[in-house]
Amino acid sequence: MKFLQSVFSINSEMVNGELVIGGCKSSLLAKEFGTPLFIIDENDFNTRLKSWKSALDRHFGAQAGTVYYASKSFISIEVAKWISSSGIGIDVCSGGELAVALAANFDPAKIELHGNNKSEAEIRSAIKAGVAKIVIDSHQEIERVNRIAKEFGVIQTVLIRLTPGVEAHTHEFISTAHEDVKFGFSISSGDATKAAQEVEALANLHLAGIHCHIGSQIFESEGFETAATRLIEFLAQFRDRNSRELPELDLGGGYGVAYVEGETTYDPDLAMSAIASLVKDQCAKHKLVVPTVSIEPGRAISAPTTTTLYEVGTTKNVTLDEGGIRRYIAVDGGMSDNIRPALYGAEYSALLANRTSTSSEISSRLVGKHCESGDIIIREIDLPSDIGPGDLIAIPTTGAYGRSMASNYNHMPRPAVVAVNDGTARVILRRETQEDLLSLDVTEAPRVIN
Ligand SMILES: *Cc1c(COP(=O)(O)O)cnc(C)c1O
Repeated sequence: MKFLQSVFSINSEMVNGELVIGGCKSSLLAKEFGTPLFIIDENDFNTRLKSWKSALDRHFGAQAGTVYYASKSFISIEVAKWISSSGIGIDVCSGGELAVALAANFDPAKIELHGNNKSEAEIRSAIKAGVAKIVIDSHQEIERVNRIAKEFGVIQTVLIRLTPGVEAHTHEFISTAHEDVKFGFSISSGDATKAAQEVEALANLHLAGIHCHIGSQIFESEGFETAATRLIEFLAQFRDRNSRELPELDLGGGYGVAYVEGETTYDPDLAMSAIASLVKDQCAKHKLVVPTVSIEPGRAISAPTTTTLYEVGTTKNVTLDEGGIRRYIAVDGGMSDNIRPALYGAEYSALLANRTSTSSEISSRLVGKHCESGDIIIREIDLPSDIGPGDLIAIPTTGAYGRSMASNYNHMPRPAVVAVNDGTARVILRRETQEDLLSLDVTEAPRVIN
């Protein structure tokens, strides 16, 4: 079993057979904070924030817009403060995510609100807070946002989300811009044009530009380029129809990261240089002024920064029908803190974190403690045969869609998130307790509702 630096956070290393992250030993982190534990490498997070911002700035120059960190991948008040200090923006998709940003005193001028079914209350909180942009996703929402903006006596800047009809090369559930999806207005059907004209006609909306987000965990520039080409064509048609140019183009997120050996995290510079040259060429072709370009990476920033630490509880050898033996290694978490393998067959790497083993490696399946056979973290991985109760297993690259998608299945309290940096560790999101969960249960006398 080798330590794969490419899937661990920048400040992770093996020291005397033990995984050390941000200068903190795994065994001591487990002892101090318990397991399962999300360990976020603060310096790595800040480094990735800066590298996306500088890549956007370098390749788009004066036309560089904002990097909006996609908060749904993982957010907490402390993390929102890191984002705010690095000078980038944040995208929120619900009242809850907006509340976290506001609790961190995030500058509303750098907040963008997304979502295919924002409630009136969510739109109201966003406009009240003064968010920079609302990305409109449906015809009903055009009217809703206009009406609420009017109530507040403001003209709300909006983008409209378009579906460019791109089949992103990723899992169906994280592919978001082909035609048959719930998101956005279709360009090819003419719906996008209709939406733009509707927005143009309303007094309390200011249409600043267009948005798309083609999916997630994408490694090639092709999908982004096709999407950008279609969006720029749309900008040209808009100009021809309305005699003004829309100044903003938001190309969403979706940049892929390495989870297992053989994958390579999408380099921000490569991604931005490919997209920037395409955008400039297409704008020249249509005689458009290059718009201000924004992006919304989530996973690419958060995923590689975080490692989950589990403790092994039981192991089992199962004889397979086709012959041979499979070793099951069960840890103290599972689908409640990482639903991605069950949800879309996502793959992960693993490492024995607390000691060196000289035992031979055997084909193993790493599973959780939930009451589902599908509660699998890694379907097949070679791990030392002497792994047993009390050992620590580290799963790298769990920073995106791990804690943020966590559930309380089996009444499991959700794990803590600990930030490590330079030999120090601090809790930034505390572990839930059984009392937290029990406090939701109430004994109430029936009331007449009719
Ligand atoms: C999910 C999402 C993102 C971020 O996607 P990643 O794959 O995490 O980069 C960005 N924009 C929108 C609108 C999204 O829904």
